[in-house]
Amino acid sequence: MSSLLVDDIGELVTNVPTPGGGPLGLRRGVALLVEAGRVVWIGPSRYAPAADRRIDAGGGAVLPGFVDSHAHLVFAGDRAAEFAARMAGEPYTGGGIRTTVGATRAASDDDLRDTVRRLRDEAMRQGTTTMEIKSGYGLTVADEARSLRIAAEVTAETTFLGAHVVPAEYAGRPDDYVGLVCGPMLTAATPYARWVDVFCERGAFDADHARAILTVGQAAGLGLRLHANQLGPGPGVRLGVELGAASVDHCTHLSDADVDALAGSATTDGSTVATLLPGAEFSTRSPYPDARRLLDAGVTVALATDCNPGSSYTSSMPFCVALAVREMRMTPAEAVWAATAGGARALRRTDVGVLRPGARADLMILDAPSHLHLAYRPGVPLIRQVLHNGVPQCRL
Ligand SMILES: [Zn+2]
Repeated sequence: MSSLLVDDIGELVTNVPTPGGGPLGLRRGVALLVEAGRVVWIGPSRYAPAADRRIDAGGGAVLPGFVDSHAHLVFAGDRAAEFAARMAGEPYTGGGIRTTVGATRAASDDDLRDTVRRLRDEAMRQGTTTMEIKSGYGLTVADEARSLRIAAEVTAETTFLGAHVVPAEYAGRPDDYVGLVCGPMLTAATPYARWVDVFCERGAFDADHARAILTVGQAAGLGLRLHANQLGPGPGVRLGVELGAASVDHCTHLSDADVDALAGSATTDGSTVATLLPGAEFSTRSPYPDARRLLDAGVTVALATDCNPGSSYTSSMPFCVALAVREMRMTPAEAVWAATAGGARALRRTDVGVLRPGARADLMILDAPSHLHLAYRPGVPLIRQVLHNGVPQCRL
């Protein structure tokens, strides 16, 4: 069995809390040994075991790979003109989703596959080693199933989002569309999906519809996630907590009752995570969610990209970390934790977002001595190497 030693690490972020290392579990002067895609040993460099291969981190920081728990990669076309119009003053309403639905339905499987893989690779080069991918631009039984089938080729974290928007052919008949989502569409999607999600927002799906879809999805064996409270206040966050969702995403407009519900959330599998998506506020020029308020209330916070062609066309977790620190009152350590361990919590994963013996050997090596540089040097390509399942992804 081939082994790989990562050595000369300037700072190791483990996300295993230690008395001196804070919540990031920072360690220095250590090396990390990988075998068969897993971390098998972490300890002082001078005691490092012999290995078949060695990567010299050159004094750079080593972190768990980013866990991007919210992305919409199965689509065709782009909406650059809509972005330009918005930057010239037009408001974002979510209506542009239908433009992408039309392009996606018209695309071939190979076109969709190429886009998914291109964006997944783009994210990987920026340190993302786990990526959730949603359907939601097909909105027919066949197109939702093929979107998930293609997503499942590159990730285990696939999410059925048939309830993204009511498609044009069901205009004025949302009950009929929800019936389709809960029936044949769910049946066709379930073999390829781990999660079910609903865009619970004025202009998309109301709380009754969301509850109906999530309930039948749960009965079909899918975990729950929810787009909630993005464009205005609403019932989504409390519904997600009530139903035991792994994550409620966006959380931009929260009441005190929403924050209390998140802070008090608990199931046997963990609490409901508040996943914040600052790329969406950036790209729609909207007010950012208040991460500080959530953190101070004891809520578990994750950061994700929301990568999609309309409201957040970025695959960059370092960009989201920088936004979270600058615009959402998170400390650099909180933002790095939220983008790694927080994302893992949002996906109910214990094998990623953390570096300890037994964890998946998913990590990044920075061209910088500490995790602080991710926010301190925004827009700079600091990621020198990425290991996914222990396999180096970039040429050194
Ligand atoms: Zn989204």
